[in-house]
Amino acid sequence: MSLSVAIVGSGPAGFYAADALLKLELDCRIDLIERLPTPFGLIRGGVAPDHQSTKRVTKAYERTAQAEPVRYFGNVHLGRDLSLDELRQLYDAVILAVGSPKDRPLEVPGAEKRGIIGSAAFVGWYNGHPDFVDLAPDLQAETVAVIGNGNVALDIARLLGKTRAEMASSDITDYAAAAIEGSPVGAIHILGRRDAGHAKFTNKELKEMGALSDCAPIVDPKDLEAGVPADLEERDRRLAEKNLATLKGFAELDPGGKSRRVVFDFCAQPREILGGDKVEALRVERTRMEAGRAIGTGETWDLPCGAVITAIGYRGPAIPGAPFDDRRGTFVHDDGRIAPGLYAVGWCKRGPTGVIGTNKADGDLAAKQIVEDAGSGGKPGRDRLKALLAERGVRYIDYPEWKRIEAAEEAAAAPGAPRRKLVTIGDMLALLDENRAGTASP
Ligand code: NAP
Repeated sequence: MSLSVAIVGSGPAGFYAADALLKLELDCRIDLIERLPTPFGLIRGGVAPDHQSTKRVTKAYERTAQAEPVRYFGNVHLGRDLSLDELRQLYDAVILAVGSPKDRPLEVPGAEKRGIIGSAAFVGWYNGHPDFVDLAPDLQAETVAVIGNGNVALDIARLLGKTRAEMASSDITDYAAAAIEGSPVGAIHILGRRDAGHAKFTNKELKEMGALSDCAPIVDPKDLEAGVPADLEERDRRLAEKNLATLKGFAELDPGGKSRRVVFDFCAQPREILGGDKVEALRVERTRMEAGRAIGTGETWDLPCGAVITAIGYRGPAIPGAPFDDRRGTFVHDDGRIAPGLYAVGWCKRGPTGVIGTNKADGDLAAKQIVEDAGSGGKPGRDRLKALLAERGVRYIDYPEWKRIEAAEEAAAAPGAPRRKLVTIGDMLALLDENRAGTASP
């Protein structure tokens, strides 16, 4: 009897889980269920639009999607179109690969003011994620503060610092490129609550900040005096050494006449957002480091700014039917197994850390657990899912239809750019339905 597996979420974690199941060469049907019409999760909607080489990993996912046992069901929203309990009744195993799409909130007084934007929203906006197309962030500000010392903070600061010409080979949305180009921003502050040696930037990404045509990195050499922290483990120590060397290079650079600056503020803990309805300044407390932790010193200053973008981590979505750890923002699980027949992989299991390839091990483990738990299977799976979606009038999108969306996006690309994304679900469906009408007419 065939095993039916549903994977909810078609980002890297979902695809690696499908691939792990394929490699076991079981008698198995695998259905990838995705909320958006488009696949690839963070590769499409999170990875920076100027990091196209990272996005090439989708070529491998494509092979998985087109393998015989696999089907793609895009535009199917778990929790709206069908419940997790229903899905579990249909499939022998359900793998949740739903990521961490929500911003971890900045819990300081004034955080509700206009002009405070979470990175999930901001990154989704410039990447054309349908949920955030209408964000319309107000970038009419001379100073923007980006909170956090991870790669997402770097991505955001870099995109704010790059010129239109530098973005020409990217797939940034036209509206975001225009808003960034038209912004009067001169200073982009990146605030880390810990010192430079504890920043989570990876070195390749940090170095990019020194190679922008019209934006200079600014580092105060005093912030580097503490050197490599003593509390770090070997791998983090090597990263800190490289990052400190890169930051030292930045401190020695002449910013010249560049019109934008990215200012690195270390030991800077945001304490309050000041202003009326809209942010006017960020109150920041100087910290000192104690055993790897940032301790407030009581010394504060106000950084006038017209927008604050928080890049301080993400949380997963809670889904009725799966226990959720509210503190960690992940599902409750035992090494990925939520219950026999229900598994978590990727960020909704581990939290928002690691690189794309980190998800592979999660997929391998989930596939192994499914084999241990599922027996010979026998649940109806795909056929019953299709019937249920038809009964409920859910217009799902299959992989060949996604390929038509992709072809239209590539055909619409500006010279040098890989694609011009369709950014609303309505436009994607209209394209498919126009094509269908076109095919049917004589
Ligand atoms: P991250 O690397 O965990 O960085 C989050 C930052 O937010 C840390 O500096 C953290 O400080 C800070 N933070 C958390 N809570 C805070 C608070 N209340 N106040 C002030 N600061 C706070 O997360 P991320 O940047 O969102 O990235 C997520 C993952 O995606 C990472 O693994 C990252 O490497 C990866 N990623 C990779 C790339 C790439 O390879 N190009 C691009 C984007 C993302 P502490 O360190 O003190 O906690």
